Amino acid sequence: MQTLAHQPRPALNAPVLVLNRLWQAIHICSVARALGLVYRGRARVVREARGEYEVFSFEEWCADTAEGGDGEPRLHSVSLCVRRPQVILLGSYDRLPRPEIRFSRHQVFVRDRFTCQYCRQRLDHALLNLDHVVPRHRGGETSWTNVVTSCHPCNRRKANRTPEEAGMPLLRAPRKPRWHPFPELRHQASVEPSWRHFLESTGWTPDAAAACG
Ligand SMILES: [Zn+2]
Repeated sequence: MQTLAHQPRPALNAPVLVLNRLWQAIHICSVARALGLVYRGRARVVREARGEYEVFSFEEWCADTAEGGDGEPRLHSVSLCVRRPQVILLGSYDRLPRPEIRFSRHQVFVRDRFTCQYCRQRLDHALLNLDHVVPRHRGGETSWTNVVTSCHPCNRRKANRTPEEAGMPLLRAPRKPRWHPFPELRHQASVEPSWRHFLESTGWTPDAAAACG
């Protein structure tokens, strides 16, 4: 154990991917929380080895840590030395997060990255407005595909005209945003290799993350 003390100590708030009973990635939590769940028997640690997945109870994971020799970081406390889990599997809880983003003023701003879709200025919430691409009185719907973020001056200038009529081309055509199960990973181009398999089934790809950034 003497040599282990000299290894870098991973923080207890390092992220751990949480899978539900159906092995679907549903959440990211801290190492501390993950170990708590595993300790109470509510989850097991998942580890991939040569394309196979092994699951470990708390006791098994501690025993596996003691066997050691794989160079993975350990977590130390006064009475415990345990390998950091990267993925855990819950024993219950099947719920998947909300499958779509609800249309709202704020979510339109988020989709458009707080950028006026006409003059391309990125502005504070208070300086932005919603604009109907096809004006409401001409049948334009209040929907993801007809509402964009606009600054107040552009909103007034466009008035009751279409972008073509006003000569104000849109920065990009408005779309319904793709739901993302892990907003915290949106701008992250790389994740733990052990997470990839599970994240890919949620639609996450390194390319998509990079494109969002
Ligand atoms: Zn503008």
